[in-house]
Amino acid sequence: MTGAEELRCPVCRAPFRGTGDCSRCGADLRRLMRLVVRARAARQAARRALVAGHPSRALGLVRLAQNCHPTPAGTRLASLSALVPHSEGTVGNTGPDRRPKSSSPTRGSVFGA
Ligand SMILES: [Zn+2]
Repeated sequence: MTGAEELRCPVCRAPFRGTGDCSRCGADLRRLMRLVVRARAARQAARRALVAGHPSRALGLVRLAQNCHPTPAGTRLASLSALVPHSEGTVGNTGPDRRPKSSSPTRGSVFGA
């Protein structure tokens, strides 16, 4: 944890202590924690998709994450995913055609006697 995304109880704003119930007001935080975990997993999958060259998939995943639990990192990831050209499927090595020409001159192998 970097502390950049400090989580707080939505009822009393007490910081999360890593327990299922809020330490101050006793609110059940388990459902909220599941959403946060799901959002984090979606952001990680989005990063992997972006690195693998699938920006539109990354954008979909990060939007899902931001719907569950918006973070500044998710906002940056969404911007980056939108900036990367969505030209999936055009990656290929189309260099100059250097196939060796098999020019086989017909050798006369007929040595007439
Ligand atoms: Zn609370």
